[in-house]
Amino acid sequence: MDNHQITVTSPLLPPLEEFIPYLQDIWKRKWITNNGHYHQALERALCEYLGVEYISVFTNGTLPLITALQALRVTGEVITTPYSFVATTHSLWWNGIKPVFVDVDPATGNLDPNKIEAAITPKTTAIMPVHVYGNPCDMDAIQAIADKYGLKVIYDAAHAFGVKVNGESILKAGDISTLSFHATKTYNTIEGGALICHDEKTKQRIDYLKNFGFAGETEVVAPGINSKMDEVRAAYGLLNLRHVDSAIEERHKVANRYREALSNVNGIRMFDERPDVTYNYSYFPIFIDSNKYGMTRDELYFKMRDHNVLGRRYFYPLISDFSTYRGLPSAGSANLPVATRMAEEVICLPMHHNLTDTDVTKIINLIKK
Ligand SMILES: *Cc1c(COP(=O)(O)O)cnc(C)c1O
Repeated sequence: MDNHQITVTSPLLPPLEEFIPYLQDIWKRKWITNNGHYHQALERALCEYLGVEYISVFTNGTLPLITALQALRVTGEVITTPYSFVATTHSLWWNGIKPVFVDVDPATGNLDPNKIEAAITPKTTAIMPVHVYGNPCDMDAIQAIADKYGLKVIYDAAHAFGVKVNGESILKAGDISTLSFHATKTYNTIEGGALICHDEKTKQRIDYLKNFGFAGETEVVAPGINSKMDEVRAAYGLLNLRHVDSAIEERHKVANRYREALSNVNGIRMFDERPDVTYNYSYFPIFIDSNKYGMTRDELYFKMRDHNVLGRRYFYPLISDFSTYRGLPSAGSANLPVATRMAEEVICLPMHHNLTDTDVTKIINLIKK
């Protein structure tokens, strides 16, 4: 058996020789953080690439979530999804907000709009959905509910870099969307993230909040935090932006091979692709129905691992099943049957720009048995 490990992801690293001139320029400028040249350049470049008007870059993808809630003065209860990475719910906790979990739609893995209204109470102030795996949420339905009840909408769009519906960025939905540029994501700045808002005043307030609340040399307008991106990572991000399209193309090819090879395997479900959506192929989840497939998800997961194919059980356990959150009234499988089943059935297959045809063939053959 070969020892080559096939990992679930692999960071998009720009060619080192292309990065050196950026470093030389930063050293020459002697300005390494605090809204420097590359920080500003990256924000402009991201606005253009993503097709949005206002973006603020951060040191990671968790702080923009925490900051978004601060900026919109969200309090009380927030309706959110249990089927995500734990940072989504943590951002509520860090603001003293009570998470209220609502079940997801099996067709997308996203918050089911039909179940949101029943979870609204007089304390509800916002909805925090996630475009999980980059699958767009039902943004119109969510906005209609938010408008009816006077709620804010903050999208955790950590997986949705560059995703569009009918050619429009989904980052335009809601009041604020956030991105993660972590090493494991489709586009990375090593660690990093961003917040997208839709007007100048909010952008200004976000920029205060990510810099201790400073609104000038001697004025502090809020108990802000420090989450500014430094120049080295901003420059790296600027360079990586030139390489991300070809990386997404490589991912698309892998996704096509998986889809073609696995669509007729009994007991394996995958998400349908919508013709109106431009995907970023950030993840390739499959769902194992053990009765039909003849093996449980965990049996397949460990079999793959024995063959050096490291899939990941994203998102298992559900956020609402972690000790921190399982005591909440909205946690538990009775309230969250769809999410519970998805968490029990999911494996994310290796998905990145460095997978070879041989790697993909090996993975497919393992799953087909
Ligand atoms: C990665 C991720 C985050 C957190 O981003 P970091 O950059 O790692 O802080 C938040 N939400 C979701 C859904 C994620 O996948």
